[in-house]
Amino acid sequence: MTNVLAESFKVYGQDNGGPFVLVSDHAGQAIPPELDGLGLSAQERARHIGWDIGIDGVGRRLANTLPAVLIEQVYSRLVIDCNRAPGHPTSIVTQSDGTPVPRNQNLSAEDVAWREQTILHPYHQRIRQELDARVTQGRQVVVVALHSFTPVMRGVKRPWHVGLLHNHDPRLAHIMIDLLRAEGLVVGDNEPYALTDTSDYTIPIHGEQRALPHIEIEIRQDLIAHPDGQAEWAERLARLLPRAWQIFCTRYEQRS
Ligand SMILES: [Zn+2]
Repeated sequence: MTNVLAESFKVYGQDNGGPFVLVSDHAGQAIPPELDGLGLSAQERARHIGWDIGIDGVGRRLANTLPAVLIEQVYSRLVIDCNRAPGHPTSIVTQSDGTPVPRNQNLSAEDVAWREQTILHPYHQRIRQELDARVTQGRQVVVVALHSFTPVMRGVKRPWHVGLLHNHDPRLAHIMIDLLRAEGLVVGDNEPYALTDTSDYTIPIHGEQRALPHIEIEIRQDLIAHPDGQAEWAERLARLLPRAWQIFCTRYEQRS
């Protein structure tokens, strides 16, 4: 297998001196040509199992509107899940939501290491570099992880428009939950997933372990499948994230 692969991340938006660093682990759909589409049909790859539908449009608009830097993973979560620690049982899934992934069966240690070294590590290294530069300058940093979730999972409909996930430091998530509920939205509090030390990777390593304020947002995919919805959610987050940060700073006596 060749070691040359297109860069695993793309950077959008610009740094306007604000605190937010946006990251999208599951925005990408690309599959390295060597992996032959992972043996899946284009239709299967386009399902929610392949990527977080709509979050690319939300994230890029949000990056332009705030403005802020957005670091986006280019490759499909089915190649390697960038929100899982290397070696995690669901880092490289052999099946997802009922669909077996042929080219993920019986991988050699070498195959796994190649995906980690060419896709997972460079992406997280780029995030680390962005955060390190700002921390070194003594700036405030807020890590914002953007995701989307499927409206139906294993036959169960999910009622939330949006969910905020939190674990060791729920402060900013709780503020954002209140602001979103004030917009009349049904907001999941650690729904449809809870953030944990093992089921997530990005917020644990870049937010919690560094004691940087953070927020993990999950938007329901049917609301952002089209450009209108993406624009609506980008506008909403561009309005509410700075407000949430201001409340946080006032409440916890941090400079903004
Ligand atoms: Zn996701």
